[in-house]
Amino acid sequence: MVDRICIAIDGPASSGKGTVARTVAKTLNYAYIDTGAMYRSVALLAEENDVAWTDEAGVTDLIEQMHFDFKWDGDQLRVLVNGTDISERIRMERIGRGASDVSTYAGVRTGLVERQRALADGGGVVMDGRDIGSVVLPKAKLKVYLDATVAERAKRRFLELQNKGQDVSLAIIEAEITARDDQDKNRTESPLRQAHDAVYIDSTALSPAQAAQRIVELVRSNA
Ligand code: C5P
Repeated sequence: MVDRICIAIDGPASSGKGTVARTVAKTLNYAYIDTGAMYRSVALLAEENDVAWTDEAGVTDLIEQMHFDFKWDGDQLRVLVNGTDISERIRMERIGRGASDVSTYAGVRTGLVERQRALADGGGVVMDGRDIGSVVLPKAKLKVYLDATVAERAKRRFLELQNKGQDVSLAIIEAEITARDDQDKNRTESPLRQAHDAVYIDSTALSPAQAAQRIVELVRSNA
């Protein structure tokens, strides 16, 4: 039987990781774990419980009571926390910023990394995030660092929000993406970086389908 491996995909905000990781998981019939959604869920839960994102102890305490489930609904991945579907609510721009804030706390990271490792137990998993190849799954058989220029990532995000009917400014989105990259790359706890053994893929000129195809080829050529 072919080995069902763990695939780690890391990269900066709006690099297309989610779409690419989902496509790879579907193609290989693997599970997909969106770790960004887990940090976003912590930010959302804090907000809903009137815990400020700056309150490290308060935010860290929330992790204890959180149980995560990922479920496919056709091509969509639904995220459930303690049985409640929060897939739409965690996608708000504000929650993305909150996720970047709460993800700087060591206790939050330890709690989520433990859950992420448990979800990957047994293999057959595509996991995406910022520290998957470097910290969460250092022994993953395939590690990918998916990148694109800031201008291209801002353009993708801009079109995505426009399609959702939101009135947004490209310049503001580019500034927000740059600020989030800076915070993610310069924090003390598990900063975003390319693992030394990760394959670098620049997706600036690639469609998500093309980037996914490259990863699937890497899996098959290493099988
Ligand atoms: O990938 P996404 O934009 O959903 O992630 C939201 C935020 O969660 C990131 O900006 C990052 O600060 C944090 N994150 C993290 N480690 C991960 C995944 C996400 O710190 N593995």
